[in-house]
Amino acid sequence: MQPVTIVGAAGRMGHALLRGILESDDLTVAGAIDRTDCPQCGRDVGALVGLPEVGLNLTSDLQPRRGQVVVDFSLPEATGSNIARCVDAGVPLVLGTTGLTKDDIGLIHGAAEKIPVVFAANYSVGVTLLTQLAGLAAKALGPDWDAEMVEIHHKHKRDAPSGTALRIGIAVAEATGRDLEKDGVFDRSPRNEPRRSNEIGIVALRGGDSVGEHTLMFLTDGERIELSHRARDRQIFARGALRAARWVADKPPGLYDMPDVLGLSES
Ligand code: NAD
Repeated sequence: MQPVTIVGAAGRMGHALLRGILESDDLTVAGAIDRTDCPQCGRDVGALVGLPEVGLNLTSDLQPRRGQVVVDFSLPEATGSNIARCVDAGVPLVLGTTGLTKDDIGLIHGAAEKIPVVFAANYSVGVTLLTQLAGLAAKALGPDWDAEMVEIHHKHKRDAPSGTALRIGIAVAEATGRDLEKDGVFDRSPRNEPRRSNEIGIVALRGGDSVGEHTLMFLTDGERIELSHRARDRQIFARGALRAARWVADKPPGLYDMPDVLGLSES
């Protein structure tokens, strides 16, 4: 059995991850962590997700031990200290939190020199494939096709555009010699000019309980291609993240993404 500690365990993804572990044959919950003032702290993690009690309570103190894997889906504010604890303990990390700053990304790269880190903007197997297809399509279609993306997420999501939309945008940019930081356009309202051909447009919609929808369009005169992924259930991210946790447990230090976990990196 592979012991896994969940950070952000009282959140929506935390619940999906706990349920995924408790219902698996090969994983066990080593720890369930949330913020200090979390109202569910002290509750049994089984009962927390509507399953039989397992004799382990939700706490606020992350103390990973060698042999475990930490899976962190919390908030950016928590990322720095969680990374530091994993590095100190020499424990592999699967990081799902989005909306991270450049400083946080720097910390992740530093940590990956000492421990194995899987860091993916989207742990869905379907989105991992969509991201690869995005790059393939952008390269094949060439500069006459305009790339525009629409993403929809639930009303509680803080960051926009989504980490997934940015990752798909980077795949389009990298495949065509562009840079999303320069060529990405997320708000056309202050602009008063026609679209430039190098632009990669991303629009974020927020509302309801949408788990995550991404549609990448390639538009040219007379035709349009749409690549879409719609997540209906948070469990898809939990399944992917737990697959990453199993995979990373015996890997050497390094920074990995879902294509590595799925064995798609060389394709
Ligand atoms: P959520 O708000 O429901 O849960 C976040 C949890 O983190 C809360 O319970 C909160 O109390 C806890 N938290 C806050 N500060 C903490 C701290 N210092 N230590 C420990 N826990 C702390 O959010 P969610 O929908 O579960 O999403 C969590 C994160 O995962 C977000 O950044 C979201 O964008 C991201 N996410 C990523 C993927 C992916 O595939 N990469 C998929 C879904 C969500």
